[in-house]
Amino acid sequence: MTPREGQNNIFLSLSIYQTKPLKKEGAMNFKISEFCHFVNGKNNLVALFNALTLGVVILDKETAKIFREAKGGIVSAEMIESFCSNGENDLLDQLVKNKLVFPLGQQVDLEDYTKIQAGLGYKRIGILYLLMTDVCNLSCGYCFVENLMPKNHTFSKMTPEVARFGIDLFAESLGKSDGIEEPQIIFYGGEPLVNFNVVREALEYITKSKADGRLPDNTSITINTNGTLINDGIATILKKVDNLNIAISLDGPKEIHDLCRPYHNGIGSYEDVMKGYQCLQNNGVDAGFCCTINRHNVEQLDQIARWFVDELGAKSLGFNILIESRKASKVRGDVKYYAELTAQKIIDSFRFFREKGIYEDRIMRKVNAFIDGHIYYHDCGGCGQQIVMSPNGMVGVCQGYLGTKKYFTNPDSKFDPLEHPFWEQWRHRSPLFMPQCKNCIALSTCGGGCPYSADLRNGSIWELDDIFCIHAKTTVEFLIKDLIEQTTSSK
Ligand code: SF4
Ligand code: SF4
Repeated sequence: MTPREGQNNIFLSLSIYQTKPLKKEGAMNFKISEFCHFVNGKNNLVALFNALTLGVVILDKETAKIFREAKGGIVSAEMIESFCSNGENDLLDQLVKNKLVFPLGQQVDLEDYTKIQAGLGYKRIGILYLLMTDVCNLSCGYCFVENLMPKNHTFSKMTPEVARFGIDLFAESLGKSDGIEEPQIIFYGGEPLVNFNVVREALEYITKSKADGRLPDNTSITINTNGTLINDGIATILKKVDNLNIAISLDGPKEIHDLCRPYHNGIGSYEDVMKGYQCLQNNGVDAGFCCTINRHNVEQLDQIARWFVDELGAKSLGFNILIESRKASKVRGDVKYYAELTAQKIIDSFRFFREKGIYEDRIMRKVNAFIDGHIYYHDCGGCGQQIVMSPNGMVGVCQGYLGTKKYFTNPDSKFDPLEHPFWEQWRHRSPLFMPQCKNCIALSTCGGGCPYSADLRNGSIWELDDIFCIHAKTTVEFLIKDLIEQTTSSK
């Protein structure tokens, strides 16, 4: 058979596990990978995408059809070669190289799956959350920390001793962990600045620990704050701290922000957040923003993204997808509609941020995994990579359980999170170990969302975080379509 005229096939090599060059012996049949997905793009092009190893080959619709319609997922070498019109590239070799097909009888899918699962076994801790208090001066309608506290919960503030214990435990765990490039310490709450005296002492202790060589010099510090308590005194102290990021929670312009982020007396916090931000700016302290996506702002998210950049001059931004219990969803309305809208609005905002060179963390994590062709095992440090220090000295895997203390433990002198069963279980909580995810197009780019949300909504961390799933799948499909568009427009 001779190659067809007018074929428009493009081969991309994003595959991470390379195969040996193919030796064709006589008539051969090939199996289409069980991880192969078909994504329709513009100009009658279709991407064949291996959701496990991230290989992509773009074919025209006609060529893609033979794979789509192959009986039993089996195609012959002769059939594939009949569609190859590119003298330099061999379609069959590219499909094999990108793990989209493999010689019948080989176990390539199984071998790759097992190899990638094995990459998940590493024990490492790279993040410390210091929950400075469970008290907050705001009363945000959607807060999963404050609103889900048991009725008899006693609120508390972290003492300097507990903060030092947490930092020492982190330094020790870090010392036993390989491959942590940039350790992070995150001050969180409640509102951490409610307990600023201890925040200050902890910052001094971190600086001292770096000087003593117990913590690496490049350990970054982040303070997640609602911004309302920042004043000149606080800003002056923060100005002196190395490698510090301030993330201020802001949901958009005043009329949107105040809907969900009021004080306990119902008055909106926007004016005070902006005063706090201004105060940091006046004192030369950089700050970024963290915007929680909820039903109150999702419709206008793309305008809000523009507002952050054009009005506030934001250089970086992080979107948080709201964690919502099933009970709350029943009151608030259709989850699917909300999740789909959220996914689309994040993509619309990404297009704008890309033009402006702004980094939005939520989508960039997936973009980077997709472009670099690396497996994105987890979307959150809670999956075995972090220690959460509660205000009263308990240690846990995830701050979401601050109220119930599920997955928290009282540490004794021998406590080692790297060997503890909670961390062992959470380390493996990845789509790569979840049978529900095996056929999903987002298998290696999604990271599994928020296990706490899965537990809250569906009863176990091993269930799906269904709101996040819609975002993850929509994003990878968008990235593949975008790749088709970018590749064809550059040709
Ligand atoms: S499981 Fe969810 S709430 Fe817990 S650390 Fe991860 S993203 Fe945060
Ligand atoms: S968690 Fe959801 S989106 Fe991610 S791989 Fe599993 S099913 Fe797909």
